[in-house]
Amino acid sequence: MRNVSKEIFLNALVCPTLGWLRRMRREEISREPTLGEQFRKEQGIEIHRRARELYPEGFLIDDMDMGSASEKTKGLMKDPKVSTIFEGMFFVDGFITKADILKRKGKGWHLIEVKSSVNDKEEFVDDMAYTTMVIDRCGFDISTISILLISKDFRLGMKNDDLFVELDHTNEVLNRVKEFKPLWELVEKMTRQPVKPDPKLRFECRRCELFEECLGKNIENHIFDIPRLSQPKFDQLTKLGIVRIEDIPNDFPLTENQAIVRNCVQTKKPFIGNKLKNELETISWPAYYLDFETVMTAIPLYSGIAPYTQIPTQYSIHKCSEPGRVIDHFEYLADPSKDCRRELAKNLINHLKGRGSIITYGNFEKNIVTSLGRVYQDLSRELNSLVDRMVDLESIIRKNYYHPEFHGSTSIKKTLPVLVPDMSYDDLKIADGDSAMVSFAYLALGKYKDREAETIKRNLLEYCKRDSFAMVRLHQQLVKYV
Ligand code: SF4
Repeated sequence: MRNVSKEIFLNALVCPTLGWLRRMRREEISREPTLGEQFRKEQGIEIHRRARELYPEGFLIDDMDMGSASEKTKGLMKDPKVSTIFEGMFFVDGFITKADILKRKGKGWHLIEVKSSVNDKEEFVDDMAYTTMVIDRCGFDISTISILLISKDFRLGMKNDDLFVELDHTNEVLNRVKEFKPLWELVEKMTRQPVKPDPKLRFECRRCELFEECLGKNIENHIFDIPRLSQPKFDQLTKLGIVRIEDIPNDFPLTENQAIVRNCVQTKKPFIGNKLKNELETISWPAYYLDFETVMTAIPLYSGIAPYTQIPTQYSIHKCSEPGRVIDHFEYLADPSKDCRRELAKNLINHLKGRGSIITYGNFEKNIVTSLGRVYQDLSRELNSLVDRMVDLESIIRKNYYHPEFHGSTSIKKTLPVLVPDMSYDDLKIADGDSAMVSFAYLALGKYKDREAETIKRNLLEYCKRDSFAMVRLHQQLVKYV
């Protein structure tokens, strides 16, 4: 039987069913990682490798076999000549864990957890507490606990030491260990009982990757489709035994937007707000439908850029003389080998010159252009004037149009199949923003060569073009409702 891991333990604390499934049915619930997940995993491996370089005296435990890895770890910990161990494996009473870095400190050990994040998060305390608890049960004393995060001040070309900041979390983690310890036996038994614990609807289910196959199964309009559903409202509804939007009473207090969703589901009719016409009429022609793609990496791809900075890499613009009538198309794709933001900004200004509205889907494009204006002061006046012309089509939809099949979301991936059913992304090789981001990052890192690189670039252009054209079609469809 599988041992309890950090993931199983922490999942089981939130939901016994989830913890049980992770331990007893792992193969059934696991799926292939997406390109984005794979890329982030690779980034994590690289960050861990660089963290290890900070301690040249360290020993790496790289045995694939758990038994020999934990034996080797124990042996090294008992050897006073060994001061630092990487990826130490611990196995005790059905629980396993790995410690990123262990440094000998007096009679005890200093545990250092490495994270590919620039921000400290509460969940990291749980991670470190689990590892500390298991090592403690193995009979080793963890006296200091800290986390290595990526420094926001790191820039390409700096020394490896500058990549990290270390924060001490000893007290919080030891307090959390005290909370975890009494749960050891309970979690161990609960996650290996012969029968799956009955799932119970809780607020956390809304973010559970198994929701559709678990408590969301066969419920077309779940209360989680209510936009911005707060925990108190969720608690009130579940207390009344309500999990379907159809069953929410008319006098149940909801915000205006939430009530629209309920009414649409209950009447099975779309909602068309009386301001839709006015809002669409604020758009001036010719209109430019703008979509950006960006790249964001832990270790910056280019000099002068902070970790995880969102770098615009391409755009697509459809220019229309009236709804649905395309009169021009512009696009730009950066050379992945260098930082092309300035060139992109200049091309953008040129392609968008004129006076018509610039239509975007959400605030993303506005934020990107604003940040370009901050970086390139000499272009800021022109870039800010682009921002002034921007109209957010998603916001117009959110306030003025709802269809029961949106299922609480106005993202383009939800609205397009409903409003423009003849259009999709299914035929594209790159069909979502995350894959586009990773594909560009791989181009920049030299993973693709020659013909393959050219194909990826074409796929990127196709994807971005589809996004801006989707806005054209959505707008064209909305006009029919006024
Ligand atoms: S959907 Fe809810 S009950 Fe089901 S596994 Fe996920 S968190 Fe647990």
